[in-house]
Amino acid sequence: MSAAAAEWLAPTSLDAALALRAERADATVLAGGTFLGILINQGFADPPALLSLGGVAELRTLAVHDGELRIGAMVTHRALERDERVREGWPALARAFALVASPRVRNQATVGGVLADADYASDPPAMLAALEARVVLHSPRGTREVAVEDLILGYYETCIADDELLAEVRVPPAPERAVYRKFRSRSSEDRPCVAVAAAVRGDALRVVVGAVADTPQHFPDVCARGPGEAAAIGRAYAERIAPIDDARGSAAYRRRVIAVEVRRAIEALT
Ligand SMILES: Cc1cc2nc3c(=O)[nH]c(=O)nc-3n(C[C@H](O)[C@H](O)[C@H](O)COP(=O)(O)OP(=O)(O)OC[C@H]3O[C@@H](n4cnc5c(N)ncnc54)[C@H](O)[C@@H]3O)c2cc1C
Repeated sequence: MSAAAAEWLAPTSLDAALALRAERADATVLAGGTFLGILINQGFADPPALLSLGGVAELRTLAVHDGELRIGAMVTHRALERDERVREGWPALARAFALVASPRVRNQATVGGVLADADYASDPPAMLAALEARVVLHSPRGTREVAVEDLILGYYETCIADDELLAEVRVPPAPERAVYRKFRSRSSEDRPCVAVAAAVRGDALRVVVGAVADTPQHFPDVCARGPGEAAAIGRAYAERIAPIDDARGSAAYRRRVIAVEVRRAIEALT
């Protein structure tokens, strides 16, 4: 079967989407389609039915509630990066989304989609983890919140259950300072070779490195040294991480980049 022949399921409310998700185990969730579309077009996926979230208005809301940023799963990267509240309150987050691919992709790709696809070479997960964001997962059984850091379990694997939908991302009030650094080794529109997100809240430093392993990498004990130890923390991250070897860089190359980029990110915080 081809995508053109797939049954099109188009709920207009979250409840209806959840009911379909539970009833139709054969249906694949479709958000912006920038990831899934490639899988289908290249013959890696052949879903008999597509459960499109495009008509669910509840999933497109972007709001600030008690200082917390609440991002509906269907908010696009472009909408997020251009939102004045996000640019002023969470500028590093706006920047991380603005560095994804091209405007054409960002106009289509959604915040829920980039987390649910769990691609190791994505930009947003490391930044969201550094900001201590959580996702809200809904199912007919109820609702649960999971830290972004715990959502991604491995390559293209999350803890989202078969009957769950990722409905919202909640980002706590912004830390005093945060930064996102994307190191590309090929074209300016490419995915990162090494992605470093760092944030400082009070005395607490959080450094999360993305695109170098199956999941975003965070070492609280290393971060406990504090922002004054930028070079030592960079070296420690490079030693602790077992980097992947892919078209964007060998493991040895990545180790060197991690040490430098982590140091630079921490220095940019101070
Ligand atoms: C040319 C190109 C360049 C790119 N460059 C970058 C880059 O530089 N940096 C980067 O970070 N990313 C990059 N990407 C990846 C892009 O950001 C992702 O493809 C996109 O974020 C996925 O979002 P989507 O809404 O299109 O998801 P979809 O393709 O619709 O879905 C992705 C997956 O998530 C599942 N899913 C989607 N929404 C939900 C939900 N709410 N609940 C449960 N499951 C869900 C789907 O079933 C599917 O498995 C690039 C993509 C392209 C095509």
